[in-house]
Amino acid sequence: MLSKGEHQTVPLSVLLKRELANEKIEMPEICHGQASQSKKGEDFTFLKTECQRVLGDGVTTFSVFGLFDGHNGSAAAIYSKENLLQNVLSAIPSDLNRDEWVAALPRALVAGFVKTDKEFQEKAQKSGTTVTFVIIEGWVVTVASVGDSRCILESAEGGIYYLSADHRLECNEEERERITASGGEVGRLNTGGGTQIGPLRCWPGGLCLSRSIGDMDVGEFIVPVPYVKQVKLSSAGGRLVIASDGVWDALSAEMAVECCRGMPPDAAASQIVKEAVQPKGIRDDTTCIVVDIQPPEKPNPPQPPPKKSGKKVFKSIFRKKTSESSSNTERDYDEPDVVEELFEEGSASLSDRLDTKYPVCNMFKLFMCAVCQVEIKPGEGISIHAGSLNTRNARPWDGPFLCSSCQVKKEAMEGKRPSGNGRYSSDSD
Ligand SMILES: [Zn+2]
Repeated sequence: MLSKGEHQTVPLSVLLKRELANEKIEMPEICHGQASQSKKGEDFTFLKTECQRVLGDGVTTFSVFGLFDGHNGSAAAIYSKENLLQNVLSAIPSDLNRDEWVAALPRALVAGFVKTDKEFQEKAQKSGTTVTFVIIEGWVVTVASVGDSRCILESAEGGIYYLSADHRLECNEEERERITASGGEVGRLNTGGGTQIGPLRCWPGGLCLSRSIGDMDVGEFIVPVPYVKQVKLSSAGGRLVIASDGVWDALSAEMAVECCRGMPPDAAASQIVKEAVQPKGIRDDTTCIVVDIQPPEKPNPPQPPPKKSGKKVFKSIFRKKTSESSSNTERDYDEPDVVEELFEEGSASLSDRLDTKYPVCNMFKLFMCAVCQVEIKPGEGISIHAGSLNTRNARPWDGPFLCSSCQVKKEAMEGKRPSGNGRYSSDSD
């Protein structure tokens, strides 16, 4: 179907050599657009480019894009939109260089999500929200997600990558097992007479998602610990599509990127929403953010090859749900992948997620709560490993440490307490 080379305007080897040659890589240009069709008014977005960060030797910028799809009201979505970024940034030590800052992000995102959830729940407001939170620093894209909104990437080379997890109980067996092990029940809505309808839900509460921010009226095993994925694009860039389930229930990733190819981000986002809504009308809040990450000199987004031909050129280390991964024996390049995976972790366990292996953990302050960043007096912190059954990490004298309030939250999330704040009583089932 495709003869080799016909689709490649710049060979990969050239791109890679170019990147290696330029130790100091130029910052990409970030262009974004969004569109939304509202039914319940519970989708919210956060778009912030040119966030400034002071380095030892100057100032650098990063961009943040967030999508919050609320349920049972919009309080959790609004609260998260207003507080999440600050909570994430406050979990990053201030004196890091660019590489260290990027390496610290996955852990800071976990702390920021849990802190936001805990503080929202302390306000005792109902409602919950999915969160898809994207931080772009240089060519590195970091995505943290809870719930079933999604972020996909189409690289300039034409590969499609899933940068978020799907925390729908219906399609995530690992999460069903986690919730059952923590004392929750997973089943369909019972209409009486033994008839069960609808998607798999978690009881008590009846939520179809296994992770979210908020949702204080359901079990605490619905946790806010995000799946985090971090990738580095080639300096040819790519396009991100961040959208709520209203889009993904109607369109595959391929359909979404194909239907708006060549359009600027604003028009692309509108087109995706239009395509998603057209067949059946607006059934849900349907929101889409399109972000182009492109080399600074080019006025237009990099044009991927007309078909999915680029995928054949390099092997992806990613799980690609829809691609028919053809083992291309004709591959004439043997370079590493163009989109490089830097980090991926989806565990719901705080002990796993805050116990980072990279050296930057040494820089996190020892006597600060790893989640809410309050100061802990020496001897009062509770090790994240305390009570851990995991012998691999059984070091109760080791940090990081939690304050007593975050320790209560952690135990509740692990199903070790029926409730963190006397929330739902354990006799509710
Ligand atoms: Zn704390």
